[in-house]
Amino acid sequence: AASAASGRDHVRQVARYPDWYDRIVGIENKPDLGRPGDLEAQLRTDVSLALVDEVVLATESYVTRAHLNRIPAEVGVWRIHRDDSDSRQPLAIEEIREPASLPVDKRGIEPLESHPGRTEIEVVAPAAKARARRRIAERAYGKGWRTYDFPACSACLPDESSGAALPYCEWKGRVVDAAAECGPSCSGYDAAGAPDVDLAAERDRRTAWEADPGGKRRQQSGLGDFS
Ligand code: SF4
Repeated sequence: AASAASGRDHVRQVARYPDWYDRIVGIENKPDLGRPGDLEAQLRTDVSLALVDEVVLATESYVTRAHLNRIPAEVGVWRIHRDDSDSRQPLAIEEIREPASLPVDKRGIEPLESHPGRTEIEVVAPAAKARARRRIAERAYGKGWRTYDFPACSACLPDESSGAALPYCEWKGRVVDAAAECGPSCSGYDAAGAPDVDLAAERDRRTAWEADPGGKRRQQSGLGDFS
């Protein structure tokens, strides 16, 4: 609950923040391993800091033994196969290596700056990691849950077989990435009303987090109320 008094905002906790998320998986997307940039350093940081439960490298490149040897053994590797000649085909994911579980509730090490012969590091306490994890989960909740609406196309049907409503396209015969694939430029597009799916309600059903809880909401009188 928040109140304004003497020009200041006061926030009082009226309910315990719920433990509303479970495992967090970080996916480093690097389509071309031939141009890795600072990928290896990033993956080493991901593992030593251990903010997320698992780290996976996703790539479209052929993954060699030399690639695997260069990245930390805890990092899982997925190879993504895309059939450019047939947009109806879904992406196929080949798991080259399984990720290991990272010690998210232990202290983490964050490499800061490297100098010849030494690297400056920061030790990150479990409580700070827990706060950062919560921020990651909140960002995913706000943005990552669904960043698209179901397409207004008669070929699209909600598919709930996985436990979450996903846009299944009858024309392509598979679940589609609606934001990237759907719209008037698609050859199978047939304008219609969007399917009746309430994604916000679905999100609320699937997490313990209540975005707008009931209960007391009160504003204290401030000096401004008496002027
Ligand atoms: S716009 Fe194309 S991909 Fe999307 S649902 Fe319609 S036919 Fe399928």
